[in-house]
Amino acid sequence: GQGLDAAWAVDWLLRSAAVVADNRVALSELDRAIGDGDHGENLDRGFSAIVAKLDEEEPATPGAAFKMAAMTLMSKVGGAAGPLYGTAFLRAATAVGDADALDPTLLVAALTAARDGVVARGKAEPGEKTMIDAWTPAVDAAAAAAAGGSPADVLLAAAEAAEAGAVATDPLIARKGRASYLGERAIGHRDPGAASSALILRAAADAAVS
Ligand code: ADP
Ligand code: MG
Ligand code: MG
Repeated sequence: GQGLDAAWAVDWLLRSAAVVADNRVALSELDRAIGDGDHGENLDRGFSAIVAKLDEEEPATPGAAFKMAAMTLMSKVGGAAGPLYGTAFLRAATAVGDADALDPTLLVAALTAARDGVVARGKAEPGEKTMIDAWTPAVDAAAAAAAGGSPADVLLAAAEAAEAGAVATDPLIARKGRASYLGERAIGHRDPGAASSALILRAAADAAVS
């Protein structure tokens, strides 16, 4: 059909796991500069566990895939990012319910719910040098692309905006999380969670165009 189905969701999670593994050291390097140096390890542990779960059972819907990802990230990823990403995937799962496939409208609803979940959990506003600075422009770009666009168009727009949003965290002072303890010393460093969010949203687009 017109929408992105369970196979896309599984492909997204597998591609996310691959890109997180490939960037494990780089993400922890970013976190070493303004945090405690574990962001790559944290996410790699979570996404490796997701891959192991997918080996055991195949989710029937995108929502089931998101829910499995949420539960796994919450239980396997310590630190700030685990509950934040876990909440994002859980809210996305709720937004799509038991739909077999996600059309642009449902896709935007899922991305919006994910972003809103991160905000509800972490209370970050845009410009505070967190993953929200990738997610919020991604949601806005996705919503704009959904008018007349395909699901792949929506995700390509989201990925591009997330990447620009991550780059735009470089000059910011952090107001949330460990990096907030650094004050002006955080200036000139990319937020690791914004960087990983851009990678994961790019994986979603890659899965949609493949
Ligand atoms: P920890 O800081 O506990 O070691 P990670 O290193 O895995 O956790 O994740 C750090 C990332 O989490 C940051 O780069 C930032 O993007 C994100 N983060 C931290 N606190 C918040 C928050 N309150 N709201 C949104 N994102 C946050
Ligand atoms: Mg850390
Ligand atoms: Mg930590």
